[in-house]
Amino acid sequence: MQCPYCGKEMRYGVIQSPHEISWKPEKGKIFASSQFSKGAIILSEFSFLKGSCVEAYCCDDCMKIIIDYGDRKISE
Ligand SMILES: [Zn+2]
Repeated sequence: MQCPYCGKEMRYGVIQSPHEISWKPEKGKIFASSQFSKGAIILSEFSFLKGSCVEAYCCDDCMKIIIDYGDRKISE
């Protein structure tokens, strides 16, 4: 993937967490599942055995990370 800021090739990698990984419009309670947060995007649901993992691309020059969440569900 090419960086949308500088156009250079980005490095592929993953973001891992022992907890659910999600994006949400505002901060919520840290242990609450984002499934109950309006407008939240679950990037990786929590798995007890595997933890959470999401693929991401990194640009070292721009210090940006791009996460593709594909067709994962957006909570209402
Ligand atoms: Zn860049």
